Amino acid sequence: MKHNFGAGPGILPQEVLKQSAEAVINFNSTGLSILEISHRSKEFEAVLEEAISLVKELFELPEGYSVLFLQGGASTQFAMVPYNLLPEGGKAAYVESGVWANKALKEAKYFGEVAVIASSKEANFTYIPKDFEVPADATYLHLTSNNTIYGTQLQEFPKSPIPVVCDMSSDIFSRKINAADFSLIYAGAQKNMGPAGVTLVIVKDELLGKTGRQIPAMFNYQVQIDGNSLYNTPPVFAIYVSMLTLNWIKAKGGVEAIEKENIAKAKALYTEIDRNPLFKGVCAVEDRSNMNVCFVAQNPEHEKPFLKLCDEKGIVGIKGHRSVGGFRASIYNALPITSVHVLIEAMQEFAEKNK
Ligand code: PMP
Repeated sequence: MKHNFGAGPGILPQEVLKQSAEAVINFNSTGLSILEISHRSKEFEAVLEEAISLVKELFELPEGYSVLFLQGGASTQFAMVPYNLLPEGGKAAYVESGVWANKALKEAKYFGEVAVIASSKEANFTYIPKDFEVPADATYLHLTSNNTIYGTQLQEFPKSPIPVVCDMSSDIFSRKINAADFSLIYAGAQKNMGPAGVTLVIVKDELLGKTGRQIPAMFNYQVQIDGNSLYNTPPVFAIYVSMLTLNWIKAKGGVEAIEKENIAKAKALYTEIDRNPLFKGVCAVEDRSNMNVCFVAQNPEHEKPFLKLCDEKGIVGIKGHRSVGGFRASIYNALPITSVHVLIEAMQEFAEKNK
């Protein structure tokens, strides 16, 4: 068995994989594969409806929001958000807490003025910038809730006088949020929600139709809402697997129960990083992520042999992002705590060998 610490596409629950594999051969006893049924069949429409209602239920979404399953990854949302929300000559506020936030704000510049109200770039994004004022004259504030590459996470969302847009790609459904605090949430599915190929967008309806822009259909939230994510052929299989994963979260006791497990996993791992003389954390302690745990070897020469030891123990995906190096253990919802214990034991064994 492998212990999958990959940052994304990330680990999915075993039972979801099994059910998905079965559906590829014979979906719900239809005698057809999920890969070959019409997206307009009543069977698929039921899948889509279930996925939408699970998102609403798990987030306790108030009235007035639409749930969309789109394509193009979170990266397309970097452009779609300003395209749909920012009026000509308007201004949007961005917190630059990592490379993904940076990419998001660069796309927004095609559509209007971008105020970067805070940045931790000068410290290679090792902390979450907190000291800022949200300009009341901007159309929206854009945040990234979890910075996948650096292992930092917004532990508290800032108060904002303007609508908040949040990229939750790497911590969606990992913790309780107050959905009403957000006007738009987006997330690529491939970490906590499903396979690559589908992007979840939750948008407050009253935000739309105010820019005066002509928006091409595929980029237009209103067109996607009116078509119930079926304006064109949606990623049927990715939506199906996401629906199964959302059901798995619900069966575990919902986001609150998952959050407790995630905190326990992260605590165990950070405790070892802080205790073990061979390793150290890289981020500000108060901003540490419960999803992506980044650390380095005190002695850079230990990096390769530790990766080799991990490989021998079936620990995969632990190498840090190419832009920062070191190690990154992604401990998404589906990663069992037993895998975290295997990693901790590997760190202890390594320290013992290299005394
Ligand atoms: N935002 C965050 C926080 C991410 O981690 C990623 C991908 N790792 C993206 C955006 C980009 O997502 P996609 O590859 O789906 O475009």
